[in-house]
Amino acid sequence: MKTLQFITQNPKETYELGQKLGQLANKGEIYCLEGDLGTGKTVFTQGFAKGLGIEEPVNSPTFTIVQVYEEGRLPLYHFDVYRIGDPEEMYELGYEDYFFGEGVCLIEWPSLIEELLPKEAFFIHIEKDLEKGFDYRKIEVIIGEEKANEIVSH
Ligand code: ADP
Ligand code: MG
Repeated sequence: MKTLQFITQNPKETYELGQKLGQLANKGEIYCLEGDLGTGKTVFTQGFAKGLGIEEPVNSPTFTIVQVYEEGRLPLYHFDVYRIGDPEEMYELGYEDYFFGEGVCLIEWPSLIEELLPKEAFFIHIEKDLEKGFDYRKIEVIIGEEKANEIVSH
């Protein structure tokens, strides 16, 4: 794994970073998205979906743990496990079909299901720094070395 660091100064830049990663995403990859409320996880996800060629609007799945988008280059399985009480619930929804399936997973609040995450999972960590401005975000991308090189040279 390799760690890349990005600074964004507005939502558009975060969206575009998501879009770039979506364009480069491959089948079977799992992207864990960490960051406090309001940091830009949804903005990033919308860009990521766009990068996969998904045109329908993407929001946080409110009533379901996982939302499936089939219209892009690869299926996107968007998880928001915030409301999960017990990782056992992940078995009930058949998470393995998504994690080890035909598409790409993007998981919000991954720490709640830490024990289920494969060690190959990638991490995106978004952080504010109010001293640097209201719209400033530091985005850390922990990702396979090959993909890190693709991102940098793309
Ligand atoms: P989360 O899903 O993490 O709770 P959202 O993506 O829903 O957060 O909201 C992020 C909010 O922060 C949006 O209102 C967006 O306009 C704002 N924002 C300001 N600067 C940025 C930035 N650099 N990157 C992403 N969002 C930003
Ligand atoms: Mg959100």
